[in-house]
Amino acid sequence: MATLFTKKHNRLLWLHGILAMTFWLAACKSSRAPEIDYQQVTFAPKPKNIILLIGDGMGLAQVSAHVYWKGVGKNIFEEFNTVGFHKSHSCDDLVTDSAAGATAFSCGKKTTNGAIGVIPPNDEPCTTILEDLDKQGYATGMVVTCTATHATPASFIAHRELRAFTEEIALDYLKTPIDLLIGGGRALFSRDERPDRANLLDSLKQRGYVIQNGSSFSRLPENGEAPYIAFTHDREPPTASGGRQYLPRATRLACEFLQKRSPKGFFLMVEGSQIDWAGHANDRNWLRAEMNDFDKTIREALNFAATNKETIVIVTGDHECGGLSLNSGERSKSFKPAFATRLHTASLVPVYAYGPGAETFSGLYDNTEIYQKMRHLLMLQ
Ligand code: MG
Ligand code: ZN
Repeated sequence: MATLFTKKHNRLLWLHGILAMTFWLAACKSSRAPEIDYQQVTFAPKPKNIILLIGDGMGLAQVSAHVYWKGVGKNIFEEFNTVGFHKSHSCDDLVTDSAAGATAFSCGKKTTNGAIGVIPPNDEPCTTILEDLDKQGYATGMVVTCTATHATPASFIAHRELRAFTEEIALDYLKTPIDLLIGGGRALFSRDERPDRANLLDSLKQRGYVIQNGSSFSRLPENGEAPYIAFTHDREPPTASGGRQYLPRATRLACEFLQKRSPKGFFLMVEGSQIDWAGHANDRNWLRAEMNDFDKTIREALNFAATNKETIVIVTGDHECGGLSLNSGERSKSFKPAFATRLHTASLVPVYAYGPGAETFSGLYDNTEIYQKMRHLLMLQ
């Protein structure tokens, strides 16, 4: 009897403990910001802001691997109700590079591999969406995890026959009216490191930029009163698993800053630059860390869009990289990633869209259509 009583008593104590823990956890949860239900948002009829997130080298296999690696719960990619595919080829090759891939997004034109914001036959400069929207009064920005002169960001502000002309591409930042730039590559703007001894950092300051090194973003002009550049690193930023963490936070800060820079709206390009480098290196752990970082970044963009209601978020890659395949794993419900190449491939690339006008991104189309669709949505009356 005594033993039975003790057992029952113990059970009651346990039950009491569990209940107390549940209430405590619930209390903790309610003190945090409530999770946003992305599906319950009523958007404005048309977008005012565009956030274009480019996972360099992110094809369907990279997204698939990320979904299965992450496992439990709803994956961020599942929050997008509109999915499409783009044909990533350049004008002269079924397999594009990142310069032609980004120029297709920035100018809406297919160009040759290696070309930055110029089109055939004579390498004519093409006006990019960033340049064009600036002229119309929009605020513009880019946040990347490579150097600012790397092919993807370069294709939105520079006009050069070859991506390798990085010193010249740095000069093009003096011609662009971009309101915010966060990424690596300070050395390419520094007098001490440039063969022409040009002090581009000073020239940018003369143009009114607040320039900061590192990734604290502590000098970001709070009310958007001045344009801002943060050089997170002197050269290429480290990998996500090697300590680089700024992309999600920088994306959130960029949205808030650009919103203050113009009442008309903004265009922000965010690049998960190193997803591609993990593919070239055939390094699954690197890829996994970069996809996780990009996942958090997409979430920040969606959080902004769900609150703002006038923002369209487009997530895509410029091409696939590594010929990644997901093969049957040794344990149940596991997979073994394998790479077929150290180069890019011609696979179709998925496009995810969220926000007003998102449905226009469904279907299968050329990469240049992404430019057309973005422009079309902003021009809607
Ligand atoms: Mg890139
Ligand atoms: Zn690449």
